[in-house]
Amino acid sequence: MPKPILEVWESLKRMADKADAEAIERIARAYAAGYSRVDPQVQALTEQLNSLTTAGQLTTARLQRTAAYKNLVNVITSELDDYSAYLRTEVTTEVTESGKRGLNAGTVLMIGALAFALGVESKDVPKDAVQTGDTTLSYLSQYLDPAGELFKRINGLSNYHGEQIAEGILERVAQGQNPMTIGKWITDAYGVGLTDSMRMMRTAQLYSYRQANRDIQAANGDVLQGVVWCTELDGLTCMSCVAMHGQVFDVGEICDDHHNGRCVMLPWVKGEPNPIDKTGEDWFNEQSEATQRSMMGNGKYDAWQEGKFNFDQLSNTYQDDVFGQMRGETPLKNLLGDD
Ligand SMILES: [Zn+2]
Repeated sequence: MPKPILEVWESLKRMADKADAEAIERIARAYAAGYSRVDPQVQALTEQLNSLTTAGQLTTARLQRTAAYKNLVNVITSELDDYSAYLRTEVTTEVTESGKRGLNAGTVLMIGALAFALGVESKDVPKDAVQTGDTTLSYLSQYLDPAGELFKRINGLSNYHGEQIAEGILERVAQGQNPMTIGKWITDAYGVGLTDSMRMMRTAQLYSYRQANRDIQAANGDVLQGVVWCTELDGLTCMSCVAMHGQVFDVGEICDDHHNGRCVMLPWVKGEPNPIDKTGEDWFNEQSEATQRSMMGNGKYDAWQEGKFNFDQLSNTYQDDVFGQMRGETPLKNLLGDD
């Protein structure tokens, strides 16, 4: 018996997640190594703040003239510059590798969908039944353009975060915060750059994978009824993705999921039933009230119970400079309208 397409997708997804996670771990290690060079300067600044405080001489103007402050700002800027250069290389490699995995996965899904329709094993689907289409990953030039939005974001890491930290220290001194608190804040603020870069890397990987998957589906449009949004449903899934699960789109539409989103479009072969037989809404209706409340939040849960909005309104679109149209969960105030 051939496997249902959802099962084929689950094993492909596990492979993609593993490969993506390895890349994310590499960039996190590089970031931590950079911080190990920043940390001694944070300690030196904390000591400087302590001694100026004890001497009753702590002002922002005075602090800005100290070697401790200048050294810290310089080392943060140079570490983040180095990290940006490293990240450009990693993103280039990973987005390309993700695209190749997406092409492969798109092909495996098409073969799996046809096998299921024909009632044969995947290996028995005729080789020429699935079109490969454009395998050059031409869309990559858009993401990997040195003057493009993705690289602009990566290059902005050091300027943006360096400035935020340099100014944040002075603001906190002006507010009279104690040196230990300021030192702790610097460490946390430095960590924000890692969170940002992990989100960029992960989303770029996922979009490259989905673009390749979309290209394969477009090349096989003549045998497809459409494509179906597929979400991994669990208690942590956002309500936008729950609402999208099972929704049908034209062949060639990309899965425009939010940052870090794990959804995909599955092929729906002509003459076959929708590969997703239970929608996200049906799944959600079967969950306990406690799960529904924790997933929606109490405000939305109550409004939903009172029939103030339709389930599919939980997902809405927005524009992102790097990835174009993306989906996210509709805020409660938008669900309730202006009144
Ligand atoms: Zn989501």
